[in-house]
Amino acid sequence: MKRVVSDPKVNIAKIKNKLLELGDMLPGHISEQWNVCGVAGCRCKDVKNPKKHGPYLKLGYSVNRKSSSMFIREEDLVEAQKRIERYQEFKELNMQLIEAYVDLARKVGFAKKKFNGGKHE
Ligand SMILES: [Zn+2]
Repeated sequence: MKRVVSDPKVNIAKIKNKLLELGDMLPGHISEQWNVCGVAGCRCKDVKNPKKHGPYLKLGYSVNRKSSSMFIREEDLVEAQKRIERYQEFKELNMQLIEAYVDLARKVGFAKKKFNGGKHE
């Protein structure tokens, strides 16, 4: 049986197309946060039974080794989660793209010649 060899150039083109179609994305994770406010005598500071404010939705993320966070409105939660999922996909596609470029260098070499199916000439 003939072994099917995938063309690294075709793979690279496919992965790049997927990256172009990916859409908006966000790094990080969403968590719930409960806050204590600055109002004197507020329920959040009750000594016996404090009821903190919240939950607030917070996106914690790290970009360029700098950690930060932003609040997410309830009505934006679904879209924010979609963007977070897309970022995971983006990272996966980046890895696949690099693998395809390594594959290209191994199978085709560094000259700009056409892929011959992995056969030795
Ligand atoms: Zn309070």
